[in-house]
Amino acid sequence: MGTPGFLLPEFRTQLTGALVRMTQNSKKDPSNGWRPETQLVHGGVLRSQFGETSEAVFLTQGFVYTSAEQAEARFKNEDPGYQYSRFGNPTVSMFEDRLKMFEGAEECRATATGMAAVTASILSYVKTGDHVVAARALFGSCRYIVETLCPRFGVECTLVDGRDLDQWRAAVRPNTKMFFFETPSNPTLELVDIKSVCKIARDNGILSIVDNVFATPMLQRPLALGADIVVYSTTKHIDGQGRCLGGAVLCSTDFLTKHLQDWVRQTGPSMSPFNAWVMLKGLETMPLRIKAQCDTALLVANALAKEQNVTRVIYPGRADHPQAALAQAQMPGGGQMVSFEVAGGKAGAFRCLNAMRLVKISNNLGDAKSLVTHPATTTHFKLTPEQRTELGISDGLIRLSVGLEAASDLIDDLSTALAAARS
Ligand SMILES: *Cc1c(COP(=O)(O)O)cnc(C)c1O
Repeated sequence: MGTPGFLLPEFRTQLTGALVRMTQNSKKDPSNGWRPETQLVHGGVLRSQFGETSEAVFLTQGFVYTSAEQAEARFKNEDPGYQYSRFGNPTVSMFEDRLKMFEGAEECRATATGMAAVTASILSYVKTGDHVVAARALFGSCRYIVETLCPRFGVECTLVDGRDLDQWRAAVRPNTKMFFFETPSNPTLELVDIKSVCKIARDNGILSIVDNVFATPMLQRPLALGADIVVYSTTKHIDGQGRCLGGAVLCSTDFLTKHLQDWVRQTGPSMSPFNAWVMLKGLETMPLRIKAQCDTALLVANALAKEQNVTRVIYPGRADHPQAALAQAQMPGGGQMVSFEVAGGKAGAFRCLNAMRLVKISNNLGDAKSLVTHPATTTHFKLTPEQRTELGISDGLIRLSVGLEAASDLIDDLSTALAAARS
């Protein structure tokens, strides 16, 4: 009884038996007064009897019991502690508690990938006969979940232009259960008005899920703006250095206990303890990285706007972004993604990509290394040309994920590549 023998919980003493893990006791938790940067370094720490400075990696599948009675009690949720790492693991708990504290959420569940987080948050809730509304400018695999997978199980989906509040309102039906959107969107960096869309959801008894990957937890607080659930691909900016896959769902205790918890325990999209450890270390440096990347992204976007064969620059931090006012209202920074259109269509874009020396061609984002993508032929090639046009994905569009290199080196590389694309 009491706390698990091998852990000395620093901050958390109260146990919620149903969860079979220790959760934060808000009254006793000294971290409540910490500033965000401090939470990202110290939040959620559980130290073992060795008093290690850095978080320990509990790379274990299971846990042993001191007696048959203890095992019995633990399965009845009468004894605190862990049973099996599909249900919970101390390193994963540390990551969940740190992210949850920073996000201001009641609960967090870490998952193996961002897509596992998206799938879990939707499929743990909806059932046959339900209806989901999603913004059509979605990450490709997210669009597959709502457009292709959900209908196979009798869950209908309506895709709307996420920028148009009237379309959200008009799509609501008596059986609508969820709204789902990302903002800024991939790859055209369109914004959705989180506050207004979540209000429409709330007024109609609908849960709203925000995929907050592009904004990162640093630049956008969907829960404070009325969202019910936030999902991350921690693969991106939370790892931040291109190493491990991971995801997270942040939600209320009610959603966790009634829906998500059993989904995660029984279907098994659990995060690896090793990956959780990498993500914990990623959170420690996230404020520094995101600030540096946002600063560089603005410099790069402004430099691109001066290039003669760049026909359009899309960056939420620039005054010429079509939704600049909304960007200012809901994001304290423009983010680290910049999209731009090169003259000459696909051939022009390819000449530019192939001439880059420093910036690497990849479909990934959120890395310390700057990465470029040609969405029309990679991440969005499965869409029809009409669908791409609808989303503003032209053949000349390039998506740039700004890394941690010196801004001037990036600007030089892009400028040289654009010159090569002109010839
Ligand atoms: C990458 C990404 C995902 C999926 O995350 P994985 O970790 O690759 O599964 C979902 N949404 C957005 C916006 C992403 O960028």
